[in-house]
Amino acid sequence: MTVVVGIVPAGGSGERLGADRPKAFVVVGGKRLLDYSVEALGAVCERVVVAVPPVAARESSNFVLGGASRSASVRNAVLAAPEADVYVVHDAARPFVTAELVGACLAALEGVDGVVAAAPVTDTVKEAGPDGLVLRTLDRSGLWAIQTPQVFRADVLRRALDVDDAVLAAATDDASLVEAAGGSVRVVQAPPENVKITRPEDLRLAEARLAD
Ligand code: C5P
Repeated sequence: MTVVVGIVPAGGSGERLGADRPKAFVVVGGKRLLDYSVEALGAVCERVVVAVPPVAARESSNFVLGGASRSASVRNAVLAAPEADVYVVHDAARPFVTAELVGACLAALEGVDGVVAAAPVTDTVKEAGPDGLVLRTLDRSGLWAIQTPQVFRADVLRRALDVDDAVLAAATDDASLVEAAGGSVRVVQAPPENVKITRPEDLRLAEARLAD
């Protein structure tokens, strides 16, 4: 039997949110932000390990100490779950994830090392210099905005995370580390609801949606 373990990086301070506590612990619709992700992953995974800031590390047996960067938090949680054959990594900052989306990512893992939830880019994308002058316009037809969940074969993710802290700190997702280690990664289209909570207005929109 394949052992699937959920990993929820929830160790950030959430400064851009301006709340009085770490972002994952902000209460929305009567629950902490992190609880939504833990519930969705828990429906599909054997267990869920959550990487949290030091202040919360002793609150639950599922919690491990987060790291200095997002991927360092993921590494700490991965090391705490050595029994896994597959890891499902999902940010606490995306509370609208569903067990269906996690299942779709797991189903797409056949034949590849990793699968990432993603949205096709609908805006025109330009590269600009530090002075704001446009350097070029990219062809958006093959571009995807990458989200979580991201699922990986466990041995591949463990190897990809076995790098210097500076490399982990520079990574904006785990799939890029897997790609850098030579792994193959596939995108799966996520529903539009799978948004990320970053700023206070995101939180207000999430409150409104949950109240519906
Ligand atoms: O800051 P950002 O919203 O990109 O963080 C994405 C996710 O990574 C959040 O759920 C946050 O709690 C988590 N994180 C972490 N450890 C850090 C920084 C961020 O687990 N050191």
